[in-house]
Amino acid sequence: MKAKENRDALARWIKETAAALGFDACAISRGDPPGAASGLADWLAAGFHGEMDYMARHGPKRASPAALVPGTQSVISVRLDYWPTEAAPAQAVLDDPHAGYISRYALGRDYHKVLRRRLQQLADAITQRVGPFGHRVFTDSAPVMEVALAREAGVGWRGKHTLLLARDGGSLFFLGELFTDLDLPADQRVRAHCGSCTRCIDVCPTQAIVAPYRLDARRCISYLTIEHAGSIPEAFRAPIGNRIYGCDDCQLVCPWNRYARRAVTDAFAVRQGLDDPPLIELFAWSEQDFMSRLQGSAIRRIGHRRWLRNLAVALGNALRAAQRAADRGRMAAIREALGGRAQHPSALVREHVYWALAQDERATFAEPASGSCGSTAARRSAWPRL
Ligand code: SF4
Repeated sequence: MKAKENRDALARWIKETAAALGFDACAISRGDPPGAASGLADWLAAGFHGEMDYMARHGPKRASPAALVPGTQSVISVRLDYWPTEAAPAQAVLDDPHAGYISRYALGRDYHKVLRRRLQQLADAITQRVGPFGHRVFTDSAPVMEVALAREAGVGWRGKHTLLLARDGGSLFFLGELFTDLDLPADQRVRAHCGSCTRCIDVCPTQAIVAPYRLDARRCISYLTIEHAGSIPEAFRAPIGNRIYGCDDCQLVCPWNRYARRAVTDAFAVRQGLDDPPLIELFAWSEQDFMSRLQGSAIRRIGHRRWLRNLAVALGNALRAAQRAADRGRMAAIREALGGRAQHPSALVREHVYWALAQDERATFAEPASGSCGSTAARRSAWPRL
């Protein structure tokens, strides 16, 4: 009985300490989430991971904390809300073809560093209380199935868009894990609350959510603009719109994000005006500008070439919009900006620039019908205002 009381008291204290460190939730699982290994195997077999070979590399270890870190008995999952308080309204930016839309999680400091530091502080505090213990920190940078673990611990439920959702915070948060060799009591799963809703599936500009809880990353704008290294398939370039780094559509439309909480930490405060930046200005950044202005940002990981590739796609779409609006001034400015990169040493950049320059000739074409990678404006009109 005493041992159980000690375990319960330690778990309670860990959660209180996590809250004091600024985490928005903290819960415990015993690892090996049921169905995680087979679900991952199915997803990989379908090829939905695209070029993300690292997803496959660790095989079943990804689904089993004890296989990945021998001796692991308990996994502490934490949540840190990131919605930046002062960011320009997401929908207004998405509706402005001449501004670049950057996923709201990437507007401030690189979350990997922020989360890692806090999780290490939590581990240090536990060490002070119980003495040295086996542990390892994970922050979306290693082969860990963080959504499955957080779901198992009851931090939230998996939404049909595959992200974790919490009743008191929607899905706009980061997850991190502390694998430990401590014998801690597990928390309970929570019920899912998606019901008959399919908004995230319906709104996806590239129809990447091919079935509830099933994402084809090869169609996902986050994958195409961040993880994917090569040429962006032409079929996806118009639907990408002005999204130059990631995509939030499936989260913006989710009714649970009415309860998304603003970040308490200023680490995720908007930097460099990235919440509503003019495309042409970003496209003019030299590689040195890119590296220095995005110091400490997760965006730097994609490198300047992919950055220009993404911007060229957005500028091609902006050119079409300007022609539709008969805005000759804008058209000239966009053509001039694109022309300035037409001799770029990277074939990847050049190819996307040429595609972009060709868009004004195609602007008389009708936009694809909604539901087939077309405009999401009408469907977005029902979005919660974030
Ligand atoms: S939009 Fe609807 S179906 Fe999708 S995650 Fe949110 S509640 Fe679930």
